[in-house]
Amino acid sequence: MSIQNNLNNIKQSLPEHVTLVAVSKTKPISDLMEAYNIGQRIFGENKIQEMVEKYKEMPKDIKWHMIGHVQRNKVKYMAEFVSLIHGVESFKLLKEINKQAKKHDRVIDCLLQIKIAEEDSKFGMTPQDASTILQSEEFSTLKNIKITGVMGMATFTNNTLQIEKEFKLLKTVFDELKLLNSTNCKLETISMGMSGDYNLAIECGSTMVRVGSSIFGSRNYN
Ligand SMILES: *Cc1c(COP(=O)(O)O)cnc(C)c1O
Repeated sequence: MSIQNNLNNIKQSLPEHVTLVAVSKTKPISDLMEAYNIGQRIFGENKIQEMVEKYKEMPKDIKWHMIGHVQRNKVKYMAEFVSLIHGVESFKLLKEINKQAKKHDRVIDCLLQIKIAEEDSKFGMTPQDASTILQSEEFSTLKNIKITGVMGMATFTNNTLQIEKEFKLLKTVFDELKLLNSTNCKLETISMGMSGDYNLAIECGSTMVRVGSSIFGSRNYN
């Protein structure tokens, strides 16, 4: 199946309130353009350098999402154009994003990455960390970032019940954080679900799915 067919099929199957991030990491610009040419405008990358290179080459109405682990010293390279940063997992990182956004006179939307998986390898903060950040006084002074939701990755497993439990946890955390009603926040996004589990994620409350291989085919890491 072609990229365009894959994309159309997935888009048709998604409820209207769910946003599709086309995860294009490792894929060549020609592949991204196939998706672009049938209307896809949101692309997700997990390496800042790669995202910057694609941003430079591609049409400027694309919304670039950073979905990977972010190193603080690299925030400056994407601050000018990044549309949403999914993987914010510390207050230090948030402060750096704010600092770099300010230089470009922008407000950068961010999601707090919550650790919902049991695996140690997955990044993210605890729900308690997230709530502490949102209630801190220093947070309320960061005028160049806005927290628009949460992101999570489930354990890499075939155990659907486990994945479901983790997705439901993220939804609960989201609902609780929303009650805090703090400044610099407009919590509306729950980013969860990838090629293998996005339907389950949507059932559990996801509003944004990050789908790569089901659109672009499997990845070749060299
Ligand atoms: C690669 C990646 C995805 C997409 O994974 P697929 O299984 O190819 O859909 C989603 N989210 C994150 C954070 C990723 O790194």
